Amino acid sequence: MEKRKLDNLGVDTSLLGFGCMRFPVKPDGLIDQAQSQQMIDYALANGVNYIDTAYFYHDGESESFLGEALKKHDRQSYFLATKLPVWILKDRQETRKVVEEQLKRLNTGYIDFYLLHTLDRKKWDVVLKNDILSILEELREEGKIRYIGFSFHDEYSVFEEILQYRKWDFCQIQLNYMDTEEQAGIKGYHLAEDLGIPIIVMEPVRGGALANFSEEMNAKFKALNSQASIPSYALRFVGGLPNVKVVLSGMSSMEQVQDNIKTFSSFTPLSEGENRVIQEIKETMQARVQNGCTGCGYCMPCPQGVNIPENFKVWNTYHMYQKFEAIRFGWAGIGRKAKANNCIQCGLCEEKCPQKIKISEDMPRVWADLNEGKWK
Ligand code: SF4
Ligand code: SF4
Repeated sequence: MEKRKLDNLGVDTSLLGFGCMRFPVKPDGLIDQAQSQQMIDYALANGVNYIDTAYFYHDGESESFLGEALKKHDRQSYFLATKLPVWILKDRQETRKVVEEQLKRLNTGYIDFYLLHTLDRKKWDVVLKNDILSILEELREEGKIRYIGFSFHDEYSVFEEILQYRKWDFCQIQLNYMDTEEQAGIKGYHLAEDLGIPIIVMEPVRGGALANFSEEMNAKFKALNSQASIPSYALRFVGGLPNVKVVLSGMSSMEQVQDNIKTFSSFTPLSEGENRVIQEIKETMQARVQNGCTGCGYCMPCPQGVNIPENFKVWNTYHMYQKFEAIRFGWAGIGRKAKANNCIQCGLCEEKCPQKIKISEDMPRVWADLNEGKWK
């Protein structure tokens, strides 16, 4: 198993991390514990030493399941990461209550990597207002958490502000070969590298979207190596960046665990030829984008409440990947009143758009492609 050194912390992590948000489930929606236990055991036996969960994964069941599943493993043999759901905290003292609850669920005396979960502008303001970081420092002194970091989902400028606020032990960002310019992106990766802050990568396969393409595109990967799986290229892309210390994969079956372990046991970064194929795939997908919305937001606010950039982002993503799975969360995240069908074609937004996008003409196209009737 490929290992990476976190120089600032003096520890070695396995480059493959086990993400615990997508365990196999039974028909009632609860975790299939027997199968998941086997997956965890197999991963640990094959050198994985980083396990990542969160307070809300599997509606809270992920942490309690791990509390049981990890009992038979030596606590020193793996690093446990979990996250603070900042948005449920009513006041500063609740942080302590949540951490105590997590320790109990996880059946452990300490958490190795503790993250402020999914920080964005709003949640970061809550962290500062409630002085949550000072409580985390207290918990660290008490030995209940070891390293303090955060996971992130917002624009680059917010990432830069948070990253430079203090000397973080690590941070977790979304990164994959398609989204190098999204959120923290590759620019954020380099900033962290310059500051000596190790990176944990989440969504390296973009929630499965980079695991399977059209027949023609799949064939390009298979021509490189008929034995290698398509998601393995996405994992090797991020794993090839030296300041990436853990690549999290939310594994749902034993086949995925085995395939990932194969990738990381004899890890090699992408070759020039492989990078070229990925670049071609990327260009093919980018050519499917419907309009050139950059998400700048200059067109906002819309008097009808339409979230113009988000509708276009989801619409363009849908066309790039040509599957609803790629946009399930993005589309659900746009409130009913902010979706494209609320546009009355007044045209007020169009003169503010530097890209000269015919917003009023595109909104009905967005709705025609993505309205709920299409999903059935
Ligand atoms: S054209 Fe549509 S999206 Fe633009 S301001 Fe008018 S209602 Fe809003
Ligand atoms: S102004 Fe134009 S480019 Fe910017 S978010 Fe609005 S539609 Fe997109």
